[in-house]
Amino acid sequence: MARLHNFSAGPAVLPVSVVEELRDNLLDLNGSGIGLMEISHRSKTFQAVVDGAVARIKRVLSVPDDHTVLFLQGGASLQFYMTALNLLRPGEAADYLVTGTWSQKAIKEAKRIGNAKAIWDDAPNNFKRVPGDDDYTVRDEAVFLHYTSNNTIYGTEFKRTPSSQGKPLVADLSSDIAGVPVEIAKHDLVYAGAQKNLGPSGVTLVMLSPWALSRVPEGLPAMLDYKVHAKDGSLYNTPNCVGIYVIERVFAWMEQNGGLPAMIARNEAKAGELYAELDRTGFWRPHAAKDCRSVMNVTWRLPSEELEERFVKEAKAAAMDGLKGHRSVGGIRASLYNALEPASVSALVGFMREFERKNG
Ligand SMILES: *Cc1c(COP(=O)(O)O)cnc(C)c1O
Repeated sequence: MARLHNFSAGPAVLPVSVVEELRDNLLDLNGSGIGLMEISHRSKTFQAVVDGAVARIKRVLSVPDDHTVLFLQGGASLQFYMTALNLLRPGEAADYLVTGTWSQKAIKEAKRIGNAKAIWDDAPNNFKRVPGDDDYTVRDEAVFLHYTSNNTIYGTEFKRTPSSQGKPLVADLSSDIAGVPVEIAKHDLVYAGAQKNLGPSGVTLVMLSPWALSRVPEGLPAMLDYKVHAKDGSLYNTPNCVGIYVIERVFAWMEQNGGLPAMIARNEAKAGELYAELDRTGFWRPHAAKDCRSVMNVTWRLPSEELEERFVKEAKAAAMDGLKGHRSVGGIRASLYNALEPASVSALVGFMREFERKNG
């Protein structure tokens, strides 16, 4: 088996031990005699998987007891709309910190429901920064403030929970949840597509406070109604059973490996090694402002597009995949999610030194 160093932004690398457990349980889920893809989502065996996933998530991420944990479908992209649909009445205001493509998409969907406003927007600067707490003012009439914790495409990240100036806080945590410090208790609603740090695509983790659930209006379409999903414990309709199983195993893997503090330390060490190389020579041109650099997605340019193309091609030949930057930034992007081994970063840095020596 030849697995490449996988720097993909998502779907992304998962712990090998989890993928092996998945392989075995596809045939026989936890000794039930029925395979994971074939077992009823209403069975006791599968209910135990859902309950285990919720319990582990609450422990690892220090989720307040009264918050509801849901596994939904439609990706983070459906949450852009669903958050606004459930929290806002038509015409009500909500404020957005626009720090990249995903926040732009979030506010676009929210505008279908209410008066959504970008109170800070770094688009003119091609998203090199995230704001500090003094850089924006939340409107008095805003029902909530929405932000994107990590900008997967641009490689910028909030280093701590932004101030919501007393308003409920809503966040898209898709690409750094469980990889960096997070204060779920400071949020009323968070969501994250699983395919970055948590599992396979096709399942979205959503966590809501009692306030968030209390805001849900009557009469929403059932599949778009958080209260419906909460009442049925994520089993209103057939969920992504495989996805929930893998999330449960990924959180078990985290707990067996030192929990969130260990993930954070390992990720900081990985990112530190790569940023040190980017700062070593002017050959590399990091995209993000230094104080806004992401621990999860590292983005940089080379002196020419021709060199960037050669970099990606030669890296691939050296067993490193997924390094081509998103088209809106260009250049190179290395995603360093929880399951990426430190040895993969060391391999990349070694390759970069050699590449710079030959081409610099
Ligand atoms: C990947 C990503 C999304 C999109 O997720 P889907 O599950 O494809 O809808 C949204 N927000 C952020 C921050 C992401 O990284």
